[in-house]
Amino acid sequence: MASLALFWHRRDLRIADNVGLASARVFSAKVVGVFCLDPNILNSDDVAPARVAYMLGSLEALQERYVKAGSQLLILNGQPEEAIPELASALEVRAVFWNWDVEPYAKARDAAVREALKQQAIEVHTSWDQGLHAPGEVRTGGGTPYTVYTPFWRNWNSKSKAAPVEELQDAEGLTAAEGQAAKKAGAIALPSLKDLGMSWERDLLLSPGEQPAFERLEEFVEDDRAIAEYDDQRNQPSVAGTSMLSAALKFGTIGIRTVWAYADAALSRSRSDETYRNIQTWQQELAWREFYQHALYFFPELADGPYREPFKDFPWTNDEEDFQAWCEGRTGYPIVDAAMRQLNETGWMHNRCRMIVASFLTKDLRIDWRWGEKYFMQHLYDGDLAANNGGWQWSASSGMDPKPLRIFNPASQAKKYDPDAEYIRQWLPEIRTLDTEMLVTGNIPAEECDRHNYPMPIVDHKQQQAQFKQIYKEQKG
Ligand SMILES: Cc1cc2nc3c(=O)[nH]c(=O)nc-3n(C[C@H](O)[C@H](O)[C@H](O)COP(=O)(O)OP(=O)(O)OC[C@H]3O[C@@H](n4cnc5c(N)ncnc54)[C@H](O)[C@@H]3O)c2cc1C
Repeated sequence: MASLALFWHRRDLRIADNVGLASARVFSAKVVGVFCLDPNILNSDDVAPARVAYMLGSLEALQERYVKAGSQLLILNGQPEEAIPELASALEVRAVFWNWDVEPYAKARDAAVREALKQQAIEVHTSWDQGLHAPGEVRTGGGTPYTVYTPFWRNWNSKSKAAPVEELQDAEGLTAAEGQAAKKAGAIALPSLKDLGMSWERDLLLSPGEQPAFERLEEFVEDDRAIAEYDDQRNQPSVAGTSMLSAALKFGTIGIRTVWAYADAALSRSRSDETYRNIQTWQQELAWREFYQHALYFFPELADGPYREPFKDFPWTNDEEDFQAWCEGRTGYPIVDAAMRQLNETGWMHNRCRMIVASFLTKDLRIDWRWGEKYFMQHLYDGDLAANNGGWQWSASSGMDPKPLRIFNPASQAKKYDPDAEYIRQWLPEIRTLDTEMLVTGNIPAEECDRHNYPMPIVDHKQQQAQFKQIYKEQKG
């Protein structure tokens, strides 16, 4: 009988183009998948119901994919360092495979699981899957990790990229007796979101599972329309000009090699410098994703606090009322409020608006960026530690970005990126009938605010900007 290999899924909920799973399949035809519902993650205070909804839906789709490939995906619920070794031992597994991760918690968890498996003389094989280049593969001339994006991008882009790996097929699953043993060792049916004590009633921007992610990729890249206009349209929140693949990339319902192969094919097909530039801008976003992953891997302290000195002991006001107004989209700044309502209602926010609301929270309200970072994690269905932390530190000016201080003016941002107030009207229905000029600038007369039950601005941008600059200067010493 073939030896049994267990593949532990975490942020790679697919059987196509999955490096670790493909190597488990090479090791043995008898490959069974496992996913562990981890209480350390699911019971944490920054879990988003929308994100868990996407994850559970993707697990359900993955179970079907396994069955079609001839095997099965088991579900466990418990501390991974206990649950995984217990299952592996009950099934007399020869080797456990997984794709390694950059997050500090994942690194510690994986080390504990590896140790427990070692005690049982079970082999462990790990692969790099979530990016095109593993941390350490892209280094400066001096051999150090990059802390600045542009040179990282040049070096990263110059390296050849791996092709997608083979999808799992012709696999062999557990026998009925082994299935019983798995149950005894903790395998359960996939719970619903309600079983986990959460609810999310709305449709997600992207449906869970491999198929919708792949279709979205094709739709975005293959017709050469959206991707070919990406650089021109990506900053307009009222336009569906971006790929909307972030949750798929976060949970790995699509493989990054597949994504890159499609983007690269579009680049090769491009007939004008204009199209080439647009497609390459999208590739640069994929590189931002990896830049932040590498940064978190080499500088895990980023997860806990600021990178730059002036922000290490910064006098944040941390006003609870202001924070609440920001969370609810009731700051009196229409572009900020529209964005926060989009987040609260859909579990997603357009990138331009993520930058606007993050700048507003930190520079205008002078609230610690970690409050915003956490609120995003509690609501984003694509919430991802590396990208979210990177985005927040960039916006707060506390991160690796070489530009010392960046302060967005909400009115100028709205004028430039939502000039007809389409986005603002979509998410702020109570003021949709007001003049475009009022909506964009945020200069709404008090009586109109009253009549439409919309707040007056809770702070004065000009004043707050001047104050922030002054405090920053003092902090720098
Ligand atoms: C304050 C802040 C918080 C953010 N939090 C997250 C987060 O939790 N999870 C997340 O995936 N992205 C985050 N981003 C990055 C970005 O906003 C989203 O990736 C993007 O809006 C997702 O939409 P899309 O898939 O249509 O992106 P596209 O524009 O189509 O980009 C393609 C892919 O590239 C990656 N990407 C794009 N921009 C960035 C970026 N700036 N940093 C890292 N990766 C990027 C994403 O995986 C994205 O799906 C954040 C940005 C900011 C400013």
